Amino acid sequence: MEVLKEKILTEGTIIGSKILKVDSFLNHQIDINLFNEIGKEFKERFSSHEITKILTVEASGIGIACIVAQHFGNIPVVFAKKHEAANLDSDTYETDVFSFTKNKTYKIRASKKYINPEDKILIIDDFLANGNASLGLVEIVRQAKAKVVGVGIVIEKAFQNGRILIENEGIKVESLAIIKSIQDSKIVFKDA
Ligand code: 5GP
Repeated sequence: MEVLKEKILTEGTIIGSKILKVDSFLNHQIDINLFNEIGKEFKERFSSHEITKILTVEASGIGIACIVAQHFGNIPVVFAKKHEAANLDSDTYETDVFSFTKNKTYKIRASKKYINPEDKILIIDDFLANGNASLGLVEIVRQAKAKVVGVGIVIEKAFQNGRILIENEGIKVESLAIIKSIQDSKIVFKDA
């Protein structure tokens, strides 16, 4: 997706050798026009699939998922929660996720009320690195005995191994910008 790649090149900054910071349009301030293009693109890429719900994880996934959902006919969005709270239903699907950006393991949970065996779910997230967040969401869908239709990612870092781990589960992965490498703060995209 050319407009997204352009935005990454002009506004993204690199932290260390592996982390891309895109706070100006994705992770802190949100570019709604770009999100609309992202929604349109995911709709095209998953057009042949029936999707009943979108699942993401808080916090950055929520905004993207909501706009994507509008392109799928305003289907519901469920977001897995990272924090235990008195107002979260006690009956939850949950699993552990290791975050390499934070270097710690946390739990994600979703109420059993909102994912049902008849659901066909598109998982959406902002980044794909080692695949832990997406695979955690896959696990939640499987606990609910629902179907994962695919995983839609805004920015994939192909030098980490998330894609292969998800594809090994027999799940389709669609990423809108795929970064092949980051060398000396230079971002190189994988073609097409
Ligand atoms: P994974 O679980 O695939 O290793 O990493 C994906 C999750 O970590 C995403 O939900 C995202 O929040 C975060 N993440 C991974 N890599 C990056 C990155 O380069 N930049 C930002 N902003 N977040 C990242």
